[in-house]
Amino acid sequence: TEEALRQSQKMEAVGQLTGGIAHDFNNMLTGVIGAIDVMKRRIASGRFTDLDRFMDAASVSAQRAAALTHRLLAFSRRQSLDSRPVDINLLVGSLQDLLSRTLGETIQLDFAFDESLPLGAADANQLESAILNLVINARDAMPNGGQLTLRTRQVVLGEVDIVATPEVKPGRYVVITVGDTGVGMTPEVLTKVFEPFFTTKPVGQGTGLGLSMVYGFARQSNGHVEITSKPAEGTTVELYLPVADSSEAPVSDEQDAARSGA
Ligand code: ADP
Repeated sequence: TEEALRQSQKMEAVGQLTGGIAHDFNNMLTGVIGAIDVMKRRIASGRFTDLDRFMDAASVSAQRAAALTHRLLAFSRRQSLDSRPVDINLLVGSLQDLLSRTLGETIQLDFAFDESLPLGAADANQLESAILNLVINARDAMPNGGQLTLRTRQVVLGEVDIVATPEVKPGRYVVITVGDTGVGMTPEVLTKVFEPFFTTKPVGQGTGLGLSMVYGFARQSNGHVEITSKPAEGTTVELYLPVADSSEAPVSDEQDAARSGA
């Protein structure tokens, strides 16, 4: 049938796309491996000059590979985004039980809601998983306990506010803040946290995908993410989402249930 044909054409396109990406990615890895091989041989034979050049080459190749996966993540996010007006206070509040169970006894959970918060525009399911990602990071940063704060507020960004982040448009935003009093990050780590697969956690404990997914989600929602962090003091992550177009009605729990049941 026509549908089956369309489906197989789609699959073919996906196959070509992933094949192309795998090819590019492989080329970048070949660059990294090649540079490392040269360095190893040079070091083995005591030739330490010019090592910088090969380190830079490896680093550039690796960064290109990271950028590629970054784009790929953003792309895969875009496929499934279903942005609708959402009551973010309600959504965050409904996570309370789950969060207190996840956090255990040593972490104190505090909420601060802006009661006059307008509706945000986002995919509620993905927003939920973004918040969970941030909360789990905050928990991991406080192995000896501490305080986790979830806050909502509204901000209006003008032209002057967005100089540092030109991709963010001026306008009204709902901001969800996840703050912790944990180990914090060095400026070095902070520059890398949005890279896919970047993690400082032991093998098997971190995928390095949490924050890059949060970032991809925010960008695809026309929002953004800001992180401030200080070693030994803690970290604050701010997730900006655009205020919903007020002409649309919010999604109620019933509608949600009906949709997932259908
Ligand atoms: P993962 O949690 O799997 O490592 P993420 O992308 O979520 O992947 O985070 C990447 C890295 O950013 C973490 O390994 C950690 O070093 C740092 N990080 C993220 N959130 C926090 C936080 N709240 N406090 C301190 N470091 C953090």
